[in-house]
Amino acid sequence: MADIIQLLPDSVANQIAAGEVIQRPASVVKELVENAIDAGATQIKVNIKDAGRTLIQIIDNGSGMSDTDARMAFERHSTSKIKSANDIFAIRTMGFRGEALASIAAIADVELRTKEHDHDLGTFIHISGSNIITQEPVSCDNGTNFQIKNLFFNVPARRKFLKSNPAELKHIINEIQRIALANPEISLSLHHNGSAIYELASSNKRVRIVSIFGKNINQSLIPIDTETTLVKISGFIGQPKFARKTFGEQFFFVNKRYMKHPFFHRAIMQAYEKILPPDAIPSYFISFDLDPADIDVNIHPTKTEIKFENESAIWQILQASVREALGKFNIVPSIDFDQ
Ligand code: ADP
Ligand code: MG
Repeated sequence: MADIIQLLPDSVANQIAAGEVIQRPASVVKELVENAIDAGATQIKVNIKDAGRTLIQIIDNGSGMSDTDARMAFERHSTSKIKSANDIFAIRTMGFRGEALASIAAIADVELRTKEHDHDLGTFIHISGSNIITQEPVSCDNGTNFQIKNLFFNVPARRKFLKSNPAELKHIINEIQRIALANPEISLSLHHNGSAIYELASSNKRVRIVSIFGKNINQSLIPIDTETTLVKISGFIGQPKFARKTFGEQFFFVNKRYMKHPFFHRAIMQAYEKILPPDAIPSYFISFDLDPADIDVNIHPTKTEIKFENESAIWQILQASVREALGKFNIVPSIDFDQ
């Protein structure tokens, strides 16, 4: 019998990989904004049209890329962030898998303008369905400007599964919120069809929370701050009387990366036990900072699930520090919910 196994062409492999990393327009926004942060940007602008179907544009004032790097960036497994597997255990950047740009370029039209700060000219690349259509010198601002058009043009199934524009926009807003809360010192804007959703100036954590969730939240925020040899836990928790029955103001970050962590969520719920109105969920904005060797961020392509080496010890520290913060504010189980 003839041999039947062959290697998939890169464009096909990229398209398959894209299915994991790029699920919807919001995934493109997340990946590109994280790249801008990794490039040292202090200012990031996100412009969206039609919930990302027509245009996703990310403009940053970060390092920019050389001509060669700009082309290399779209190769699969191409990254400037790690050189060996061991580097993952010391990772401080948002990215390291070298998959996002290759994935996005496999399923969309990508126009990139990028310029390093000490150069007169930058480079322009148009790439579509993994094929480089144009690369030429261009005069442009320092930093990087990505425009993603025609998302999923060659993946009809994905296109069909997209939700309504308001629903897709909500996903984008959620990604921006997470990144904005994790990086309050970065100035960040989000515009949709020309109107501003966020125009966030560089600030501190409390101000950033207030600019996103409104000034009423300010009086609710109780600072938490604990440092042990294992972990530093900082941020804010909300007063129980402000807790609502819906999710939306619960955020965990680890080394500036948003994460979901149902187990740590339970530590918080237990710390608030008996002082919450029925079915209410307290707000929290909690950052864990610890040695990257003590966590594994590489268990899922989107990196929102993170494994902690010392999970149960951190659980205890978290719960104790939430209790302590509530105690300092004299919030004890006898609270009167009607006041
Ligand atoms: P990763 O972020 O995992 O390294 P990506 O595919 O997202 O992989 O990006 C590939 C490379 O392209 C990055 O490692 C970085 O060197 C470069 N790059 C991407 N976006 C930017 C940007 N906005 N500014 C500067 N360099 C960038
Ligand atoms: Mg990346």
